[in-house]
Amino acid sequence: MSEQFNLFINGKWVATEGKLEVINKYTQETYASLSKASEQDVDHAIESAEEAYRSKQLAPYERYEILRKVTDLLREEKETFVETMVAEAGKPLKQARTEVDRAVQTMEQSAEEAKRISGHGVPVEAAPGSENRMAFTIRVPVGVVGAITPFNFPLNLVAHKIAPALAAGNAVLLKPASSTPVTALRLAALFEKAGLPAGLLNVIVGSGSVIGKQMQQDERISTYTFTGSAEVGLKLKQNTGLNKLILELGNNSPVIIDKEADLDKAAATLASAGFSYAGQTCITPQRLYVHGSVKEEFQEKMTEAMKDLVVGDPNNEDTDVGPMISIEEAKRAEEWVEEAKQAGATIVTGGKRDGAMYTPTVLADVTGDMLVVYEEIFAPVVSIIEYDQLDECIAALNKSPYGLQGGIFTKNLDTAFYAARNVEVGGLIINDSSQYRVDLMPYGGVKDSGWGKEGPKYSIEEMTEERLVVLNLDD
Ligand code: NAP
Repeated sequence: MSEQFNLFINGKWVATEGKLEVINKYTQETYASLSKASEQDVDHAIESAEEAYRSKQLAPYERYEILRKVTDLLREEKETFVETMVAEAGKPLKQARTEVDRAVQTMEQSAEEAKRISGHGVPVEAAPGSENRMAFTIRVPVGVVGAITPFNFPLNLVAHKIAPALAAGNAVLLKPASSTPVTALRLAALFEKAGLPAGLLNVIVGSGSVIGKQMQQDERISTYTFTGSAEVGLKLKQNTGLNKLILELGNNSPVIIDKEADLDKAAATLASAGFSYAGQTCITPQRLYVHGSVKEEFQEKMTEAMKDLVVGDPNNEDTDVGPMISIEEAKRAEEWVEEAKQAGATIVTGGKRDGAMYTPTVLADVTGDMLVVYEEIFAPVVSIIEYDQLDECIAALNKSPYGLQGGIFTKNLDTAFYAARNVEVGGLIINDSSQYRVDLMPYGGVKDSGWGKEGPKYSIEEMTEERLVVLNLDD
């Protein structure tokens, strides 16, 4: 018997006629059955959020207390969340545990930030004719936040949206990814338990192209926060008019391995980061630009380090690489690799598919116009690209439409800083993989990787407005 879940609207668990089946991504068996939102349910959820925003404003310390309680509950119920993500996302146990720990951080930091929201003084008295005036700004909530999230971090990316939105005093309507919605509903239950007033958080489930589209066209939502593919992000941009929009989109992270890199460190780090969660993270190192003088040695060390990767059942304590999110996605990765091979690429290791499992794969002899290099592969596939001159390498890697995070391994400070100034990304990680992230840092991309920053402090800035207040002190 699969578990049953309902929508969370206006503080109630709402059962509907429409059903969504969520499968276990490793066994491919039904894991859960969920109520699916109709047009009326979406409307009801938006109305509840708007009503709660107008009538149930919480003081900052009250928001702090609720978010703190959720933090504690999340710690207590860690294993439930881990099991859920292993099943619905196919996330290996070790990585699911890390995700819960990170979500605890995100929640805790959002709680703390709720007490630090402030404006600043504005010296209007410095302007001629305004000698007798004073001014300052305050930060006010934006209203109803519409949040849409992807499948790959079903807990922490949901936390990155709803916790700062609530910390800032907004009401939220969340639509999680259809392949991994159970985790978000479990998180909503923690907010209920922590005493969040009804309507301040609503979670609806259903297809993005139906209910996500409906959300985009509703004027009661003042701000959208979206994490997902560039393709869907573009649709949101086109359909949300003049509303505020935060976009965290796709990417194909570059990492440079310079001639002065610590090759053992680079190989070990990238052999792990390139394939964790089957390469399905937005900052997975995908394009490895390796200096010609060290390419053979690096490639050897990296493939050697990859022999330690344990591939298989995500429920196994030792597993590093589990299934991809669906058999279709694994087939797409297989096709892209095949296409690259036909065009002259060499499969150094991997390149085998079994259902949704795709083996960790390294490609060499690739060119910049191959999909495996140019597009986001979102699979356990990395490409090695040889370079000679650093400036030419950076010019080539900047040709990507994306720019979320990149990395460089080098012991040379000049090289590191040249890269920091010239690689077109939202963040450059020196002597680690592009995948480094802690939840308090400003995180977000440039170009087709989106705009706006996440990280509780930065999300709160995005999800509040700065209002100017001027005092006229003339008699
Ligand atoms: P996706 O296909 O773009 O879906 C993301 C969300 O958008 C899902 O909830 C989806 O609903 C919804 N959606 C689909 N069509 C929609 C529409 N027309 N209107 C409104 N919503 C719609 O992305 P994904 O496959 O879940 O996630 C992978 C992508 O996310 C990758 O590109 C990855 O790089 C990106 N990502 C970026 C970051 C970052 O911080 N920059 C972090 C993580 C992931 P359904 O599930 O119902 O289709």
